[in-house]
Amino acid sequence: MNFDTDKLVREKIKNLVPYSSARSEFRGKASVYLDANENSAGSPLLAKYNRYPDPYQPGLKNKISRLKNIAEEKLFLGNGSDEIIDLLFRIFCNPGKDQAIIFPPTYGMYRVCADINDVSIIESALTPGFQPDLTATVNAITPFTKLIFICSPNNPTGNSIDRTFIKSLLNAFQGLVVVDEAYIDFSQQHSLLNELKDNQNLVVIQTLSKAWGLAGLRLGMAFASEKIISLLNKVKFPYNISSASQQLVSEALDNEKWVQNYIRQTLAQREKLKTALEKIHSVQTVFPSDANFVLVRIKNARTVYSKLADQGVIVRDRSQVELCNDCLRITVGTAEENKLLIEILEKI
Ligand SMILES: *Cc1c(COP(=O)(O)O)cnc(C)c1O
Repeated sequence: MNFDTDKLVREKIKNLVPYSSARSEFRGKASVYLDANENSAGSPLLAKYNRYPDPYQPGLKNKISRLKNIAEEKLFLGNGSDEIIDLLFRIFCNPGKDQAIIFPPTYGMYRVCADINDVSIIESALTPGFQPDLTATVNAITPFTKLIFICSPNNPTGNSIDRTFIKSLLNAFQGLVVVDEAYIDFSQQHSLLNELKDNQNLVVIQTLSKAWGLAGLRLGMAFASEKIISLLNKVKFPYNISSASQQLVSEALDNEKWVQNYIRQTLAQREKLKTALEKIHSVQTVFPSDANFVLVRIKNARTVYSKLADQGVIVRDRSQVELCNDCLRITVGTAEENKLLIEILEKI
């Protein structure tokens, strides 16, 4: 399919002259920096954070590009994936005019970002098996549809979205297909990163907030064509990733073994948790999960939620969400945490 990014991007953004920061105008090494109105004396801390961070995070990108085996030019780093989701709306959707398609029940930020940007959302509900319907989706596309968000593995249902569906959509749709792979590290399915070379309209989003255990540092990643990546760079705030995040994330990336070990343990715990939950008589269904959580249908979910909370155990009440009536979403915790959860559930 001949896809043209230039045709999709908002006119204002195409013609935007981005802010040129002091740190992007001078990129060499110098001994005296008097160009950014910083505090030359240092910071009231042991570590120094008085200098603005590098706007394009070359050190971090180098490490991530090697980790993911993707060229740095196809990688964008955001202040969490949430920043990336928001940027995609701002770059491609004209407020009050354009639309995006989502597949509920799914991650709530797609709609929130759409609302903030005055972009209307078209819902194409998942089937009871939590898969999208290709015909319904294609029929929902209009000339104003710019983005389609697919969360795979999906939050809150936990399952992966059918690959043939995603591939068909990539071929049928002239806008961007955004695949949010926040939970891909826990999945049996392969990432869609390998599809980037054949699909100019694909954006893959990943995050260091889940398997990498760095939710507090805020580091999201977008993988896409160089054209899309340069648009993200053009529109983002100049210093979107703080020096502290860049430095700490860089250290963490040297410790992939820790993460692989954590993933193995979590997958084992997930299966244990599923088995234990299925033995509890008020539990009706534990849905299959490709993520680090399970969706559980349980009698009187709301009451169960409150009773767990009374005992200091907080799960996510999804019982009011479509297709998730009487469902709780439970993150796989440590062996001790899961055991405690089960003990309390047995008593309720
Ligand atoms: C947790 C989660 C994210 C992560 O967002 P960050 O801003 O990177 O922390 C993104 N997408 C989905 C579906 C999630 O569940």
